[in-house]
Amino acid sequence: MLELDTLSVNNIHDGVGVDFLTVLSGGTVEYADLVENSNDLIQVVGFDGRMIYVNRMWQETLGYSRDDLEGLNFFHLLHEDFHCDCHQRIQRLMAGESVPRFEVEYKTRDGHKIIAEGSIALYLEDGEPCGIQGVFRDISARKKAEKALLSSEERFRTIFESSVAGIAMLAPDGHFLQANPAFCQFLGYTFKELRQMKITDVTHPDDIEQTLNRRNIAQANRSRAIVCEKRYLRKDGSVFWAQLSSTWFFDDEGQPIYTVPVIQDITRRKEAEERIRELAYYDSLTGLPNRSLFNDRLEQTMAQVRRRNGEFALMFLDLDRFKGVNDTLGHAVGDAMLCEAARRLSACLRGNDTVARLGGDEFVIILADYKDDANLPKIAEKILREMSRPFDLGVREVFGSTSVGIALYPNDGENPADLLRRADMAMYAAKDNGGNTFQFYSAEMNARAVSRMDMEASMRRSLDNEEFFIEYQPQIDLVTNKVAGVEALLRWQHPQLGVIPPTEFIPLAEETNLILPLGEWVLRKVFEQCVCWQEQGYLPFRVGVNVSGRQFVQPDFVEMVCTLLDETGADPELLEFEITESVVMKDVDAAVITLQHLKELGINMAIDDFGTGYSSLSCLKHLPLNRLKIDKSFIVDLQHNADDRAIVEATIAMAKRLDLDVTVEGVETEGQYGFVRKRDCDVVQGFYFSKPLSATAVADNWLNKAS
Ligand code: C2E
Ligand code: CA
Ligand code: CA
Repeated sequence: MLELDTLSVNNIHDGVGVDFLTVLSGGTVEYADLVENSNDLIQVVGFDGRMIYVNRMWQETLGYSRDDLEGLNFFHLLHEDFHCDCHQRIQRLMAGESVPRFEVEYKTRDGHKIIAEGSIALYLEDGEPCGIQGVFRDISARKKAEKALLSSEERFRTIFESSVAGIAMLAPDGHFLQANPAFCQFLGYTFKELRQMKITDVTHPDDIEQTLNRRNIAQANRSRAIVCEKRYLRKDGSVFWAQLSSTWFFDDEGQPIYTVPVIQDITRRKEAEERIRELAYYDSLTGLPNRSLFNDRLEQTMAQVRRRNGEFALMFLDLDRFKGVNDTLGHAVGDAMLCEAARRLSACLRGNDTVARLGGDEFVIILADYKDDANLPKIAEKILREMSRPFDLGVREVFGSTSVGIALYPNDGENPADLLRRADMAMYAAKDNGGNTFQFYSAEMNARAVSRMDMEASMRRSLDNEEFFIEYQPQIDLVTNKVAGVEALLRWQHPQLGVIPPTEFIPLAEETNLILPLGEWVLRKVFEQCVCWQEQGYLPFRVGVNVSGRQFVQPDFVEMVCTLLDETGADPELLEFEITESVVMKDVDAAVITLQHLKELGINMAIDDFGTGYSSLSCLKHLPLNRLKIDKSFIVDLQHNADDRAIVEATIAMAKRLDLDVTVEGVETEGQYGFVRKRDCDVVQGFYFSKPLSATAVADNWLNKAS
């Protein structure tokens, strides 16, 4: 057993030490204390493994006292995995090489493991090596911590890799440093691709500004966490809605090092929310804002405009004769037409304007920035033009037009309800003017709307008082240049307003069903006139009478006509009823029966205003008709409009093939006359020859007596 008086600790940590214990005597006591009280485990072991010296820390750590050393062998204390290594190191020491620091594992007395790190050197006695001195430090605690750290990192990695949430790590400038599989999958990129990208590359364009703002705020305030909802763009361009919680990490100087965004897929929820919003605020057919959203916007616009003392316009639109489309062509076609109308209207407008569908064929437009009142008619005209382009609805082309009413805030109404009502009234005024036109609301128009109601009452009075009368317009046979017939046209001799043309009162008469007694009155008058002319000896010619759709569909219409023929004694062969194509198309089967009955009575049938409705000639093929009257709207512009010329030509050709006579209406000029004369048309009618005249005047000027 050694009594250590002095220890020389020179070079011990270099592992070279030749004079670790120089002498047991002759050194200083302080060294012995130093070694004894050191926090390192210090030991001296003989070459045979015998323990020569251990310090206090060694004893405390390994649980052996110095008294136990006698029977102990160093290699019994060392975990066997380290034996070989230890032997090799000793060999190297003996060979005069140095041995770097290394780790060993001890077994304590009660069976625990101690991991120690340190170095060894030769132990010399009298200059002769007789053992190994070692200085080790217990690093078990550090090792444990390291291991724990390692496994926590592993755990984190597992969470990172398998998390259903998308997790990424971004550099402060937004470059991707890391992204887990979920993150990659959400956005449709591989990590390799994301590595080359910035977060703004996968952010929805509308959310980029917000994203950058959030980043700036986070960096400026050193705020650690942000939670928000955000849109990303997937690789395929689709939108990905995420709930984002982003955490920022800063270094000791407060500089951002990286940020960890964690995203969760909320696309489904967002879509559902959007759908709910759409259902509540958008029209499901056209996708336009519905009445609720329109009301909101109208109020909003009004509030904004009021604040800046501005003005804005409200347009109320209604498709002309849309009911006809729905009734004759079915709802699917009607729906398709509404969708196309919605598209066209949207295309006419600017970003700040709102177009909404109120229901049916009614649309409204809030025009917020038209700059100058003078632009409004231009906008309205553009809309009318767009809406009167043919609608190609797959199965067929449909012609439409629109009536537009315009009210101005604040002049025409200072609250939403008033403004809307007045735009609506203006729209009705436009309809009254024949549709396909626009009207401004104004005090004067308001007065006119009120007078509509007066008009109905006074129309009834006038019927009783026989204040209606009939004019006749001659129709010229193109072959003989003689009168082929006349068309009876109704006029209203208003006691105060003078003569009112039929376009101004017939729609109202139809609306109020006054057309039934009025139409019957016309028929009776015309029949009587025929008999009268016949009695006066005029050569037989045809007399055309307009029959309103309302009249034509009355179940007792044919019966009424029979009675009138009986009562007046008129010759049915001289009569020609003019009905518009839409009347026939509305209910073809019923129309065929009525037409058949009229034909059996000997009455001729003509289709009036041909070309303005929705039917094609082939639809009319099987109907008992005699004549087609090409509408004057195709004639007006004949000389300048190649389309119109083509339509007129084609219509004449096809009518001929169906064995129908053709009358062209509205011929006003030499040129128009020249055009139709060269075509295979039978009869012309128009101001070029004569305006409608009284029965006497037409007889005096145009009718021929048998000589
Ligand atoms: P419509 O059946 O198309 O009648 C022809 C209209 O064209 C008439 O207008 C006639 O005056 C006008 N017209 C004739 N030649 C020319 C021309 O060269 N240039 C122009 N610009 N116009 C021409 P009117 O008399 O004002 O009648 C308008 C419409 O009122 C008629 O159109 C018809 O639909 C309806 N109507 C007239 N009388 C009756 C009636 O007794 N019963 C019914 N139900 N409707 C009638
Ligand atoms: Ca007519
Ligand atoms: Ca006509």
